[in-house]
Amino acid sequence: MSGKREGYLSWDEYFMGVAQLSGMRSKDPSTQVGACIVSRDNKILSMGYNGFPNGCSDDEFPWDREGDELETKYPFVTHGELNAILNYRGGSLEGTKLYVSLFPCNECAKAIIQAGIKTVVYDSDKYLGTPANRASKKMFDAAGVTYIPYSKTGRQIHIRV
Ligand SMILES: [Zn+2]
Repeated sequence: MSGKREGYLSWDEYFMGVAQLSGMRSKDPSTQVGACIVSRDNKILSMGYNGFPNGCSDDEFPWDREGDELETKYPFVTHGELNAILNYRGGSLEGTKLYVSLFPCNECAKAIIQAGIKTVVYDSDKYLGTPANRASKKMFDAAGVTYIPYSKTGRQIHIRV
């Protein structure tokens, strides 16, 4: 009998929780996506969320989704998964696992494959069936990247900050 504490976070809850916490840093009024990259031995290597590149002010660049293309966020925003990949300065991400709150778009899928990430654990798949979503899955299948839907435990985590 070790007397070990019961009810601690599982690895999956921990990493998806960290991904979601990262997403809470996003300034995007409509979609907040967070990502967390984990080594084979369960160490967090990097995190990211959707936002504009360094030097591109959140107060000056547009967050709109409609209108003239240069008045929308789309040409400027970097997705959470890509930011997590780019934020890592420690070497190779070969063989790592990515936790992300939304299934990756096709552009992020390319970066995930090229970075050597081998497993994607995703929460929402709200763009299921769209061309970008199908393109991501087609590339992941071809490249041997496994994608696993996160199975929610329903646990509520309260953090007072
Ligand atoms: Zn993306």
